[in-house]
Amino acid sequence: MESRQLLVGGRWCPAVSGATVTTRDPATGEVLAEVADGGAADVDRAVTAAREALYDARWARLSPDERGRLLWRLADAIEQHAEELAELETRDQGQPLWLARSVSVAGAAQHFRYFAGWCTKLDGRVPAHSRPGALNYTRRVPVGVCGLITPWNFPLMIASWKLAPALTCGNTVVLKPAEQTPLTTLRLAELATEVGFPPGVLNVVTGGPEAGRALAEHDAVDKVSFTGSTEVGRSIVRASAGNLKRLSLELGGKAPSIITADADLEQAVAGNLRSGLQNAGQVCAASARFYVARPRYEEFTERLAAAASEMRLGPGLVPDTQMGPLVSEEHLASVDGYVRSGTEQGASLVTGGTRGTGTLARGSFYLPTVLADATDGMHISREEIFGPVLTVLPFDDLDEAVARANNSEYGLAASVWTRDVGTAHYLAERIHAGCVRVNTVAGIDPAAPWGGMKSSGWGREMGEEAIDEYSEVTSVWIGLE
Ligand code: NAD
Repeated sequence: MESRQLLVGGRWCPAVSGATVTTRDPATGEVLAEVADGGAADVDRAVTAAREALYDARWARLSPDERGRLLWRLADAIEQHAEELAELETRDQGQPLWLARSVSVAGAAQHFRYFAGWCTKLDGRVPAHSRPGALNYTRRVPVGVCGLITPWNFPLMIASWKLAPALTCGNTVVLKPAEQTPLTTLRLAELATEVGFPPGVLNVVTGGPEAGRALAEHDAVDKVSFTGSTEVGRSIVRASAGNLKRLSLELGGKAPSIITADADLEQAVAGNLRSGLQNAGQVCAASARFYVARPRYEEFTERLAAAASEMRLGPGLVPDTQMGPLVSEEHLASVDGYVRSGTEQGASLVTGGTRGTGTLARGSFYLPTVLADATDGMHISREEIFGPVLTVLPFDDLDEAVARANNSEYGLAASVWTRDVGTAHYLAERIHAGCVRVNTVAGIDPAAPWGGMKSSGWGREMGEEAIDEYSEVTSVWIGLE
């Protein structure tokens, strides 16, 4: 069996404790690799290496042009190894190969290319101040050592969302992938080393919550960028208080989707199915609660359930698979628990509601599930399930739909399906979410800001906003008299 180590200061090494953690293929249960289970001592070594690299001339004195070239070369390397990376992501995470190719790997390369261009554009400015005889100008400087903690749902792509702007701004990083899915992050780090990133600029500590906690608490870490659950996000806020480190938090969601009476139902069913079930619903922005205008409620529910029940489930490496397994048995049990709670609280199960049988029984497969006749107070309507479970609720009036959509602790993403341009803008203006999608499931691009309101997080990834997250501004005064 393959065994994988930590990357600290340019060297691959086992965890100080010698401990390892197993990563499995969720489609078969097969063990893929034994991976070093890093702890606080490993994080400490990695942070020290990152801090040394921060001041090392090979990184600190690299021109913006050279830094941009390195990022661009990493994008090239990702594309050259696209098929290998896609297969690795599919095996480790479970997502269908087409999704790994078109979203995870393509998205990762796109992020490094987009941010490569930013390296030569990190300008300061000359403010129009009112002090005579003095010049003021601003400089953008790195925040310092960044701890990047990622989840298991899109491991390669989410690592790239953080790594690309962090390196662009001249930071050094310690990256901690999720314990369930470390393999593509480790391969990305190998490629970064091969294309010439100096030792210590990118360190990887694999492992579980202990390694994440150690990063969040470490006094020599200047910033943590975390993507994961809201509960862990809260604990990171507390852990980071010691040195008041900068924080970006991309947390949970429970995206509402409003389907108005005039919506193109064919488009709405296809779009909501995609948005709700992509990567088996293990998407923070997945549409999860569907508010449907009452005259279209039954028709929408029936068509959504029919389309969901026809989806082809299977291992991600099988070419015609539309939906793969959940990431683990533990997660499957949690998803199933939510469905049971929904039916116990009075919702009706229209389709799904059980794990896959026959050849699917080997893996963590759960059937696409539609629950109708739900009410807003049920767990299935309020809490993030992070699985292939779609909850449908009727509404009578647009303002009522908006109020119910906004009545959530989350505010990450939302969708609107309408043919009326006035309704589209009316709703887009009133929904409290970091991203509102109208008649489309698109929503992620390196150029457009991504992040949540309320308990969905702090700050934004991507676009110009990401540059602000990974840099500080120094104001310089020069006396001229
Ligand atoms: P999780 O919070 O359990 O774990 C995320 C990461 O944090 C993992 O690397 C884990 O090892 C680490 N971790 C666990 N406990 C920690 C602690 N106490 N201190 C520091 N690190 C710790 O989340 P998950 O189950 O891997 O991912 C699913 C969650 O991620 C969902 O809630 C989903 O909505 C969210 N998510 C959000 C976005 C977004 O852009 N907002 C994107 C993807 C996923």
